[in-house]
Amino acid sequence: MSRRPPRLCSCGSIVAHGARCQCQREQDRVRGARHDRARPNARQRGYDRQWEETARAYLRQPGNQRCECGAPATLVRHRISIRQHPELRMSPANWRPGCRRCNALDYIHERQREPR
Ligand SMILES: [Zn+2]
Ligand SMILES: [Zn+2]
Repeated sequence: MSRRPPRLCSCGSIVAHGARCQCQREQDRVRGARHDRARPNARQRGYDRQWEETARAYLRQPGNQRCECGAPATLVRHRISIRQHPELRMSPANWRPGCRRCNALDYIHERQREPR
């Protein structure tokens, strides 16, 4: 078994021969994530279309025309974060009418609560 010397990565880390540096692995991960976001697969697209139609029907129901801030409701907000509970995404019990601004605030508050 031949022992080859470790190499010096361009980031300055010394990496075992044949292994990927931490910085390369991080690059792979970021690139992969960006790729996923740019090209949703067919099932995700179908799921999103179904979601959009269901959400639109929900907002047409009586009492669902206004966001809690008083603005016209243009989207469905989730009471419980679907980032933590994705299974509650399609559950009407977890819905409330919302506006774009409040929805964006939900998202910011959610991120602030998440340990980083
Ligand atoms: Zn590196
Ligand atoms: Zn609002």
